[in-house]
Amino acid sequence: MERAQIESLPKIELHVHIEGSIQPETVLRLAKKNGARLPAQDLDGLREFYRFRDFPHFVEVYVAVTQCVKDEEDVYTVFSEFLEGQASQNVLYTEATYTASTLESHSGIPWVRQREAIESALADSGERLGLVLDIVRGQSVSEAFRVLEWVEAGLRGADCALGLAGEERRGTREYGEVFDAAHRAGVPVTVHAGETCGAESVCEVLDVCRPHRIGHGVRATEDAEVVARLRDLGTFLEVCPSSNVCLGVVPTLAEHPLPRLREAGLKVGINSDDPPMFGTTLTEEYVRCAEAFDLRTEDLVAMNADSARAAFLPEADKAALLTAILRPQGA
Ligand SMILES: [Zn+2]
Repeated sequence: MERAQIESLPKIELHVHIEGSIQPETVLRLAKKNGARLPAQDLDGLREFYRFRDFPHFVEVYVAVTQCVKDEEDVYTVFSEFLEGQASQNVLYTEATYTASTLESHSGIPWVRQREAIESALADSGERLGLVLDIVRGQSVSEAFRVLEWVEAGLRGADCALGLAGEERRGTREYGEVFDAAHRAGVPVTVHAGETCGAESVCEVLDVCRPHRIGHGVRATEDAEVVARLRDLGTFLEVCPSSNVCLGVVPTLAEHPLPRLREAGLKVGINSDDPPMFGTTLTEEYVRCAEAFDLRTEDLVAMNADSARAAFLPEADKAALLTAILRPQGA
């Protein structure tokens, strides 16, 4: 497949982190404006700092980047640039994860002020965004309930959902009551699992969080019964191939289980996770996967159609997205 063909393909993205999408140029600009200290002072140094080493280093990069965002003006900038970046890749609709609670505790920007900045960025861009506000494993249950409150209250111009992220070993079970409350309130749920831990972690989130989708979930392939359970439940997997290679979940892209998951009848989509931190973009993910797995246009269209069906949107909006995705290319 030609890169130009992939660039023009209408796309849906369901797993990408706002903070993990901030471009190095913007990180430098924000750091300078706010007097935030970074381990690198120029673009080359920052790119080197971004280059993946191991999971603890990845967390260090993530925290350093988040700490450059200091006020609502920065939140506005970050969201505006994110929306522009998605539109430039022909992404018709995105559901992005955002850790508002970390920004509140690290930068002291109360959620209500973050929310106003996000609403302004959305209004000015004219784009629609799905926003997954996530609980980070390790947070207290009361902090987790606050995140659920924000999701339930919602914000203008964005459809909200509840997420769970962070190191899987730090636990899932303690948040059971939060997810029970989310389901009672009709809040859509997506949970990171089956990434740093194996199939048993996927089972645990299915039992405890009953998610509509799973972020990653690729290590479900370690247990055929778990794969069958996901297929029977119709749980969609938000697959992020380069992220999995960078974080050592799989040794190489060629060994990534994406084709096996599809062959097993699971619904999956291709996503970029934290693109500049993993040296990728959504378009680049499509290019790499098309090459590694010999995917044709119809495979990419089918995954986008499944992503549209798995979006946390009203049925009429999903139908409109499906029409745009399934329209013959070039028509
Ligand atoms: Zn993620």
